[in-house]
Amino acid sequence: MKERKIILSEKEMPRKWYNIQADMPNPMQPPLNPATKKPAGPDDLSPIFPMSLIEQEMSQERWIDIPEEVLDIYTLWRPSPLHRAYSLEKALGTPAKIYYKQEGVSPAGSHKPNTAVAQAYYNKQAGVKRLSTETGAGQWGSALSLACNFFGLECTVYMVKVSYQQKPYRRSLMETWGANVFASPTDLTQSGRDMLAKNPDSMGSLGLAISEAVEDAAGRPDTNYSLGSVLNHVMLHQTVIGLECLEQFKMVNDYPDYVIGCCGGGSNFAGISFPFIHDKIRDDKNITCIGVEPKACPTLTKGAFTYDFGDVAKYTPMLMMYTLGHDFMPPGIHAGGLRYHGESPLVSQLYKDGLIEARAYGQEGVFEAALTFARTEGILPAPETAHAIKGAIDVALECKEAKEEKTILFNFSGHGHFDLTAYDDYLAGKIKDIEYPQEEIDKSIASLEKV
Ligand SMILES: *Cc1c(COP(=O)(O)O)cnc(C)c1O
Repeated sequence: MKERKIILSEKEMPRKWYNIQADMPNPMQPPLNPATKKPAGPDDLSPIFPMSLIEQEMSQERWIDIPEEVLDIYTLWRPSPLHRAYSLEKALGTPAKIYYKQEGVSPAGSHKPNTAVAQAYYNKQAGVKRLSTETGAGQWGSALSLACNFFGLECTVYMVKVSYQQKPYRRSLMETWGANVFASPTDLTQSGRDMLAKNPDSMGSLGLAISEAVEDAAGRPDTNYSLGSVLNHVMLHQTVIGLECLEQFKMVNDYPDYVIGCCGGGSNFAGISFPFIHDKIRDDKNITCIGVEPKACPTLTKGAFTYDFGDVAKYTPMLMMYTLGHDFMPPGIHAGGLRYHGESPLVSQLYKDGLIEARAYGQEGVFEAALTFARTEGILPAPETAHAIKGAIDVALECKEAKEEKTILFNFSGHGHFDLTAYDDYLAGKIKDIEYPQEEIDKSIASLEKV
């Protein structure tokens, strides 16, 4: 019998998160206050975040303790298994070894509860009663609803209208865990009303839903805002993924040459890769880390490295990051979780410094990879995750060509059980490659304020 699953015991779980800010060759540039354009300090962030998370956001400490209460909830699905994809390897005829870290086993179906639980915990500690957030495809809204439910917090989710209509069961899941879910744009916030006045039929965007959620939190003393990706503290919480992988690789006496993840705001990629980049920086390990994004939203591969806002209404601090421009309206591809205009400032800086690589793929090839995976390993991936699978398959085929027995690790960021409409479309031949035009990117970036 083949040993397919490398399982850690609860006792062997990491007790600390890894903060890559302690080891970066060049520090990331500070966020800027959106009005003054001066570096944002803790006071700029305190209306919407608890001080403990603001400290993590700015911390230079290498290791940060995971609170006992958070570890307790993690054990509902963590440590997550590391799988060896023997059947996929065989189907590809590659000499490479392919491993994947299974983050789809969380109750919400993705890696996102790793940070949702931590954020709900720190907000509860700070006496906050209610969290507001946005969700695109519904993965983050589900994760935060789950976490708020565990800690007895109210949860309000602004869900991008197009997803609200396309993915009613994600909404049902959030409501099951007790959240209030609204289709964004709503008439509950100024930014929502402004958009509706301009375009009553607006189907929304992630950047707009963020504006609504931030406005909600800033206007109520009992409410904080919670973000599922992009920010440093989110990357930090997700490192539990890569730290577990390091232990699991020790158990099978192996170590990856490639670490691959799909890239939306960067959190699952950061989560799996940062602990390996630690080894790369500190021990000179020869590892190639690849972030994979859609050609329809090519933030790293075609965006500009510059200061930009995180949202449409310009409420958020300006972040130094790869961006397609905050008014970017993404084409309606199925990987909703990868349609954000920006990229984590930490991932961006590492990309700028050549510590990570990026590739972009079209939807058709991505869904083909998803089907190959479902038909070999049996598990149906989220369309976002399928980007990482496509990246891993491509690298494995390059190894076949070069007759190289390399070790590939990718992050299986979530399952696709709520994405069956997308699979229906693919099977009906209705999924086409969409490439975002360079002129549009140039136009959007040229219109950004210079700071
Ligand atoms: C949200 C999501 C992503 C993209 O977000 P990142 O912050 O880049 O990780 C990827 N995969 C799944 C399953 C998601 O839910």
